[in-house]
This record gives sequence, C-alpha cells and structure tokens, in this order.
Amino acid sequence: MQQIVNWYRKFLEGADRELYGRLAKGQAPHTLVVSCSDSRIVPEVIFSANPGELFVLRNVGNICRLDDPSVACAIEYAVNHLKVGSIVVLAHSDCGAVKAVEHKEHLDSRGLIEWLGEECFDGCDLECAIKASGIRQFERVAAHPAVKAAVQEGKLEVGLFFFDLATLCLARYNGRDWEKIC
Ligand SMILES: [Zn+2]
Repeated sequence: MQQIVNWYRKFLEGADRELYGRLAKGQAPHTLVVSCSDSRIVPEVIFSANPGELFVLRNVGNICRLDDPSVACAIEYAVNHLKVGSIVVLAHSDCGAVKAVEHKEHLDSRGLIEWLGEECFDGCDLECAIKASGIRQFERVAAHPAVKAAVQEGKLEVGLFFFDLATLCLARYNGRDWEKIC
C-alpha cells in the first residue's frame, strides 16, 4: 500500500494545480466512455484526455445492461445532468470477459455468474465475439430512453469502437460493418 502513496506523491509533483483548481468547482465532460476494467484499457490515455474531459464507466467486459443500476445511473447522469455530447462504448481485443463467456466453467463465483452468465459468445473467434458483444452493449445504450431522446433532439451521438492492443488500430462500427479509423 505504501507504493500507492509514493505514486500519489509522484503525481502531486507534476500535478496541474491550475487545472485542478478549476475542476474543484465542477465538471463538464464532453463524453461518456463505457470501457472494460481491463488494466490495459485506459480511456483517458488512448483518447488523449485530461481530467474533467471524460465521464467514465468501467466494468468487467464494458457491459451496458440497463437493469444494472450502476450502468443506468451513469448513463442517466451523463446524459441528463452533465449533458455530454457523445457516448462511446469501447470494446477491446483479448477481452477476458468475453473469453470467460466462451468458457462458462470460468464463471466460478456468484459475482461472475450474475454479471456474465447471461452474456453470449457470438462469432467464429474471440475477436468476432468481442465485436458482437460490443454491438450488443452499443444497442443497449442506444435503447435507453434518455439516450434516445437526446439523440432525437440532435444533442447526442453514440458510437462503438474496437481498440486492438497488439496493433493499436482503432475501428468504428457504422451500424453494419467495422471501419478502420487508424
Ligand atoms: Zn475486457
């Protein structure tokens, strides 16, 4: 635990105090990102964002089940109160959550079963299944009444991206296919 304190001290040495002074008065993030808890997927790093720019919901598998209060609450707060202009669902390669869904014997505790037991592995390989899962999560977000209303008013855009760790390629789902962006 001491190491965490040391890392905090290191952060403090280089912290932008002017920025934090502004952020102390409130936040106005432009985007809600729903990403996996995976330690390799850090939305602020890959989208070059400073503190205050992204409202982030991270969970195992970037699952967007609207019957989960933490998912519903994050979406509603971001859309209705923070008035974000974009929601990004971020799927990623080598996702352990999707792997676990393929091998249901890995779901060996109550939390994992409750969280991932109802998810399904669609597609011929892991990448296809991760992308299919991403589409499922994207559709869930898009179906939220607050999201639907804001999109209809032209105030909100919802996107789904796939980030590949090995190549650093980013692809975007266009509603039918995946387009390579970078
Ligand atoms: Zn993952």
